[in-house]
Amino acid sequence: MQSSRIAEKSTPYWWEAAPVQPLPEQPLAKQADVVIVGAGYAGLTAGLTLARAGRSVVVLDKMNPGEGASSRNGGITSGNIRLGYAELVRKYGEDHANAIEAEGKAAREFIYDFIRSEGLDCDFNLTGRFYGAIGKEQYETMARGAEKLQRTLGIESYAVPHAEQRQYLGTDYYRGGTVRMDIGGLHPAKYHAEILRITLAAGVTVHSNTAVKSITKDATGFRVETTAGTITGRQVLICTNGYADGADPWLRRRLVPVRSRIIATEELPPELMMKLMPRKMMCGESKVLGYYYRPSPDGKRILLGGRDASQSGDPAAPTVALRDGLINLFPELADVKISHSWFGNVAMHRDMLPRIFEHEGLTYATGFCGSGVVWAPWIGSRAAHKLLGDDQRKSAFDFRPMSSIPFYAGQPYFMPAFIQVYRLQDRIALARATR
Ligand SMILES: Cc1cc2nc3c(=O)[nH]c(=O)nc-3n(C[C@H](O)[C@H](O)[C@H](O)COP(=O)(O)OP(=O)(O)OC[C@H]3O[C@@H](n4cnc5c(N)ncnc54)[C@H](O)[C@@H]3O)c2cc1C
Repeated sequence: MQSSRIAEKSTPYWWEAAPVQPLPEQPLAKQADVVIVGAGYAGLTAGLTLARAGRSVVVLDKMNPGEGASSRNGGITSGNIRLGYAELVRKYGEDHANAIEAEGKAAREFIYDFIRSEGLDCDFNLTGRFYGAIGKEQYETMARGAEKLQRTLGIESYAVPHAEQRQYLGTDYYRGGTVRMDIGGLHPAKYHAEILRITLAAGVTVHSNTAVKSITKDATGFRVETTAGTITGRQVLICTNGYADGADPWLRRRLVPVRSRIIATEELPPELMMKLMPRKMMCGESKVLGYYYRPSPDGKRILLGGRDASQSGDPAAPTVALRDGLINLFPELADVKISHSWFGNVAMHRDMLPRIFEHEGLTYATGFCGSGVVWAPWIGSRAAHKLLGDDQRKSAFDFRPMSSIPFYAGQPYFMPAFIQVYRLQDRIALARATR
């Protein structure tokens, strides 16, 4: 059974207001200072930064610009650093760990300033994020984390005990939670369309439906073979993330495309929305395979996302699982229709940190691990500064490439097993929490 049997549409809800579309066709230039592969948030912000610094830039995308993850995501400005501080210190040393954490804060502030100063019309709202704890132990750990965040980075964050939870979220499912006021929500497809608008206005040429087939080094730079001909770039930046393909087998051995799916409800009555999401916050939860959810920017629907274990086609089971998860949180929604269900690829990897790196002369800005609304534009623009030779703005995320995955060449055969293990971990944690 297809997902369209459960949901009315299998295209992103976001495309109703901001459809992705091809750009007018134009001949491919013979040469550019910088050729960028991928026209998502990362590729476009890199192009924008380079063009404003006077470089000629051509961006190539095999689909319509934004048709990858950048117009499909939840629009939550989470800017997650998936490794905890202790693990960062263990892996990279104290100085580097501190620089990474500080850049997490700087990146989010940069994005908010970017939206404001460029006048990006993308329904951005700094609502705050509620993170639900599935048990008392999780709640206590999270409450300590919120207190530390406030003390060390000055981020407004606090714990919400179970007794006060309904002031934030209309469910009794959690044992309390935490709030971070530096996270908000935007309309991801409008955000992308607006970044595309200013990037084109800065003089960047963007080609849709132009796949890069191979890249080889020559005397003056790189020969980029595409489905629309060949272009030479003095420098090349790769921003393909969860949609990286066989054109770069080396990258493919490092990035695992994992499906994430979102469902949207039909429009709900205002009183029900007010009961379920009184503060209109972005939401998440303390599980390995936790859901992320939010109200739509117009406050009329709930959008809920999570991992999708399918690897091909568009089966119904992941939509059914998300709908069941939604009803488990909010039993009032048992009879509500699902209007949209869609998926996109996030790029996971062994090191779990976004990254800028070089390999054989090519520069990469990628590996956002499902958290690219903040990270992709930030890392894209920092990668552009790297290409400009601006060492003052070197990112703490600019270091060695992520490791390759043994016996893996691009087909993530191990993901269904991983997802089963994560589900089991969540079940055990939940059983312990409710004992
Ligand atoms: C369902 C879902 C929900 C998410 N929710 C959130 C969220 O709430 N908050 C958050 O921070 N992040 C979220 N993310 C992650 C976020 O969307 C991504 O990290 C971000 O969009 C990555 O941007 P990007 O520019 O690196 O890649 P993309 O936007 O994926 O763009 C990569 C582009 O590269 C192109 N490409 C690939 N190979 C080639 C080739 N050979 N030739 C030419 N072009 C090529 C593709 O066509 C694609 O357009 C979510 C992702 C998904 C899928």
